[in-house]
Amino acid sequence: MTGSAFGPQFYLDHNATAPVRPAAIAAVEAALRRCGNPSSVHGAGRAARRTVEDARDAVAALVGADSVGVIFTSGGTEANFLALNGAGRTRVLASTIEHSAVLNARDGIELVPVTADGVVDLARLEAMLTAGGAPALVSVMLANNETGVIQPLEDVVRLAHAHGALVHTDAVQAAGKIAVDMASLGVDMLSLSAHKIGGPQGVGAVVLAPGVSVAGIVTGGGQERGRRGGTENVPGIAGFGAAAVEALAELNGFTALASMRDGMERAVRKICPGAVVYGERAPRLPNTSFLSMPGVKAETQVMAFDLAGIAVSAGSACSSGKVAASRVLRAMGAADADNAVRVSLGASSKESDVSAFLDAWASLYTRRGDGRAAAQPAA
Ligand code: PLP
Repeated sequence: MTGSAFGPQFYLDHNATAPVRPAAIAAVEAALRRCGNPSSVHGAGRAARRTVEDARDAVAALVGADSVGVIFTSGGTEANFLALNGAGRTRVLASTIEHSAVLNARDGIELVPVTADGVVDLARLEAMLTAGGAPALVSVMLANNETGVIQPLEDVVRLAHAHGALVHTDAVQAAGKIAVDMASLGVDMLSLSAHKIGGPQGVGAVVLAPGVSVAGIVTGGGQERGRRGGTENVPGIAGFGAAAVEALAELNGFTALASMRDGMERAVRKICPGAVVYGERAPRLPNTSFLSMPGVKAETQVMAFDLAGIAVSAGSACSSGKVAASRVLRAMGAADADNAVRVSLGASSKESDVSAFLDAWASLYTRRGDGRAAAQPAA
């Protein structure tokens, strides 16, 4: 992304939010300019309904699902909330690296640990399921927002289903970055958020597999087949649909970002061989790198990069705007958790963005005091 009046010069924080695609802006604007409630029976209402249903088809196609299973929500947070609270299961198991939108969705969630590579511990999951109790709901994200580590969902599903448990996956970060096929994953419920794929903020969906149902939390006027009441956010949904169409069409291009990311990690290691890339031994999203700068606090790094016009983050975006040490890295038992920042590339990222990051990285590392020997020019 090049600099604009609206953003930093070098935007490397696509996992926090992605730039809105021009096609999504056009779809939002077109929907805003039309008047019509999708529940009205007249022509204007039917046109609004068509907009919503076209978007539903596009969102379903992005994750290989049936349109009838798509329930539009106000975003990924509400999608996770609805899945965890609407599925009718009293026992919920979730991995320790889930987004707070899952971990704070209800009380009493039983935590499944992860390995040092940031992958859910399948043996522990199986032991917890075997220990018995009421039929459970297991929630394991498809890809982690901080490390990008892709979780072994097929194995989670196999274990969970063998114990009569349902499986929900938070696919907010995976969708549009890797191919997602709900049927082959075998999950029962999946959450999405539009603003991570170049749609508008404030709209998302929970997608149900055939035969799976949720009880609506907000019932109101019975919209979304009684599963989420309230007049639909037609402009937001239209933008979500437009973004889903493009994200699906551009999946191969997104995969190619891995070589840019890998080159960046190699260059960081040339500057400082002790830099740690978290989760690098596991399969990862092609765009994400969570890396430490030994001896420099994440908060200091984020501010220094910001001064250089570079947007990165210290993990998941926090509503308070504070930079806190990563809970995900702590769950992985990482020693250097306070010193890690997340770089997340996007479709519009260029080598010049990465070069700017590497120059700033080298300069900051050199200035840290004891880094003189490692201060090589970024390759
Ligand atoms: N789940 C994950 C993995 C996320 O990264 C996020 C956003 O950061 C969310 C859920 C929440 O989505 P939303 O911002 O649409 O509420």
